[in-house]
Amino acid sequence: MMYETTKERIKFYKSRTWKRKRDEILKRDCYECQECKKEGKVSIDLNRFGQGTKHKYLDVDHIEELQKRPELALVDSNLVTLCIKCHNKKHDRYQKKNKKWNDEKW
Ligand SMILES: [Zn+2]
Ligand SMILES: [Zn+2]
Repeated sequence: MMYETTKERIKFYKSRTWKRKRDEILKRDCYECQECKKEGKVSIDLNRFGQGTKHKYLDVDHIEELQKRPELALVDSNLVTLCIKCHNKKHDRYQKKNKKWNDEKW
């Protein structure tokens, strides 16, 4: 699998393998945004909402992007927990170019 098209990537993100891996990484990172943690910040969002809803504010990011390094898709060292804010910041450039990337098919 090469993940070159959006369709392939969506299929990946919906797969049971990815969901299981994602949970694993969230647990490994103690459900904390690693970017915020590095800066000594604790995201307010995460504290404000109860445990059950924490997940919604966190994403698991591919450090080396999926389409560039498909072989690292499920490698722990290439995966990191980010809050939505930091995640958007990271992909800012990409989103500006393709504004509809997220809302069209997800
Ligand atoms: Zn963050
Ligand atoms: Zn990402």
